[in-house]
Amino acid sequence: MALRNFVGNEHAVRFLRRMTEKGALPHAWLFSGPPQVGKRTLAIEWAKLLNCQSPLNTGDGLDSCDRCPSCRHLSPDRPTYAQTHPAVQIVDTMMAAYWEAVEKAKEIEEVDPTKLKPKLSLGINAIRTLRETLSHQTLWRYRVVIVDEAERLTEEASAALLKTLEEPPDRTLFILVSANPWAIHPTIRSRCQPLKFRLVPSHIILDLLRAKGLTDDEASLLARLARGRVGWAVNASREPTWLSVREHLFSLLKMMVNMSWWDVFRFAEIATKGVEETETEGEASMASQRRQLEELLEGLMLGWRDILAVALNAENLVVNSDWLPILKQVKKSPEIVVKVLWELRQTYRRIRPPLNANPQLSLELLAIQAVQIALQ
Ligand SMILES: [Zn+2]
Repeated sequence: MALRNFVGNEHAVRFLRRMTEKGALPHAWLFSGPPQVGKRTLAIEWAKLLNCQSPLNTGDGLDSCDRCPSCRHLSPDRPTYAQTHPAVQIVDTMMAAYWEAVEKAKEIEEVDPTKLKPKLSLGINAIRTLRETLSHQTLWRYRVVIVDEAERLTEEASAALLKTLEEPPDRTLFILVSANPWAIHPTIRSRCQPLKFRLVPSHIILDLLRAKGLTDDEASLLARLARGRVGWAVNASREPTWLSVREHLFSLLKMMVNMSWWDVFRFAEIATKGVEETETEGEASMASQRRQLEELLEGLMLGWRDILAVALNAENLVVNSDWLPILKQVKKSPEIVVKVLWELRQTYRRIRPPLNANPQLSLELLAIQAVQIALQ
């Protein structure tokens, strides 16, 4: 992959190309925008161009060759933890877990990255390790540090990163990536050159999925469900796991529609049922549980949004088009649906950083609110 293959957000690609051609690059960047629209991917592709050994001059501007040894080190096929490019460092919750495991492991022990679970936050230790790697000289044109989900930096880690941003090492770029930029330390934010990403129009996602060989029906449903998140669509087209996740979601949605007092605890229990089993109840298992719940809540919001569309006689706006026959039977007033959506939104906000409320309790509270709304 190279910049020429990047789908959507053309304005961002154009801007980065123009800045690269000019040469004088700001050392700190903030790539913000909705989840899964390609922020992290574009950061990696740009890092690829910045260090490419034989960049191309395409009709659209500069691009990486995608073939030289430097480019090959940044192939998207490599797992995220196998960061082997000497000049590009990705700091994310997975890398933080890896560094922590390496530190804890005894000298002879090898860390098995496939057994690691992402951490809930980016703590001070991750930034310390990063600063340590940055203290060495580099022979590369640019060193690029990509901090993914930068809103997960702890207070302490933010302070340490700020120090680095204020006295940046030579020829080093920092790219902070975030879907919740307002949760990033405001001083850090003010030091960064912003680059905003947008949702990708569904016809562009549809074309991409067709080009990947999906049938028209499959491509059309996935492009609708993606709601502009091109990365989600690409992952879903590769892995059919989204189908079982969606079935789980559908059963929860049906339960929520007819929620009674008897269902409150069962709802919270079933909602967390799809969550992976882990041996220890550590921070890591909490983190992956939270991520899955976030996705589940997003799906429930979308389901209720579809119920609202039906209630307003706007069936053409329904995203989960294959659920339409069932959605039509729901028959809730728009006022009720809006109230449920509001509660879902509140729950979603609560379980995400910086609030990080207890997921189980938050879901129980959501179920209670849903019953109360139904009784009104
Ligand atoms: Zn190259």
